[in-house]
Amino acid sequence: MKPAAFAYCAPTSLDEAVRALQAADGDGKVMAGGQSLMPLLNFRMTRPTMVVDLTKIPDLSFIEQRGDRVAIGALTRHADLEFSALIAERLPVMSAAMPHVAHLAIRNRGTIGGSLSHADPAAELPMLAVFYSATIRAQGPAGRRDIAAEDFFVSALATCLDPDEIVFEIEFPVLETHTGWAFEEVSRRFGDFALACIALSIETRDGAIVDARVAVMGVADTPLRLRDAEQALLGARGDAAAAFGAVVRGCVAPNSDIHVSADYRRALIGALAEKAFTRAWQRAAGGPK
Ligand SMILES: Cc1cc2nc3c(=O)[nH]c(=O)nc-3n(C[C@H](O)[C@H](O)[C@H](O)COP(=O)(O)OP(=O)(O)OC[C@H]3O[C@@H](n4cnc5c(N)ncnc54)[C@H](O)[C@@H]3O)c2cc1C
Repeated sequence: MKPAAFAYCAPTSLDEAVRALQAADGDGKVMAGGQSLMPLLNFRMTRPTMVVDLTKIPDLSFIEQRGDRVAIGALTRHADLEFSALIAERLPVMSAAMPHVAHLAIRNRGTIGGSLSHADPAAELPMLAVFYSATIRAQGPAGRRDIAAEDFFVSALATCLDPDEIVFEIEFPVLETHTGWAFEEVSRRFGDFALACIALSIETRDGAIVDARVAVMGVADTPLRLRDAEQALLGARGDAAAAFGAVVRGCVAPNSDIHVSADYRRALIGALAEKAFTRAWQRAAGGPK
């Protein structure tokens, strides 16, 4: 199919882009990489009167260290994250996740701002934003605001952004003391959206876990940070993989859908949690990175 007719503009500043959205009075859509928006337009699942192309705005594509955070411009492509030495060193869980995002052709066009704003419940970057407690920075007619990642995702394909707000950058805190980490995902075919996925990182001292972070996706309408599972890991030692898997299974309540049943998805996230625990523990103990 072809999209319904729409007006198009390609502003060269964020202020101009916000004004164009405001003028569209709720019927405008910004386009970044176009990898999700174009199919939606072609299937006429969205019919904006105005498409505001962000790609002519300079300075929205960058990856830079800011003290104990890594700042990423909204137009930064998935492939730039995948091949960034800074991301590999400072945000290793993101680095491990990026090859799982779609296929290389899509990663060459898709952007982090587009992925977060699209808010697919089975997408990697929204889960990573929740996992790292990222701050998502948006600009609208009333100015700029910072949004905590856990507040940003409201439900499947829905965020707290107003129709005339644009994400311009995201800041990710570096988990300096977390020497053990893992990213585990299962999809039907490599590059498909995940059936279930987990990110885990741990800090150990004297052979026990003293701090942990756990986030999952594919098992709810939004990515989830599992604080009960984090709490359960405190004091755990290397033999806790099975117990951790059971705790994670108990923390989620997935739905059945056309792909798999709720029971399957719950069992899968538990198995991934066990695998992630073992991998994170090995890394924390100085095993292969
Ligand atoms: C076949 C296929 C497989 C895929 N598999 C995966 C996968 O496994 N994992 C995964 O994570 N993703 C996957 N994707 C999605 C892909 O990663 C997209 O690139 C991404 O979701 C959207 O990024 P984009 O820059 O292309 O956004 P666009 O398509 O340009 O925009 C998507 C939505 O976000 C809005 N938007 C874009 N940028 C901004 C901004 N800066 N501020 C506010 N709103 C904005 C748009 O208005 C639109 O509503 C897949 C896509 C395809 C086509």
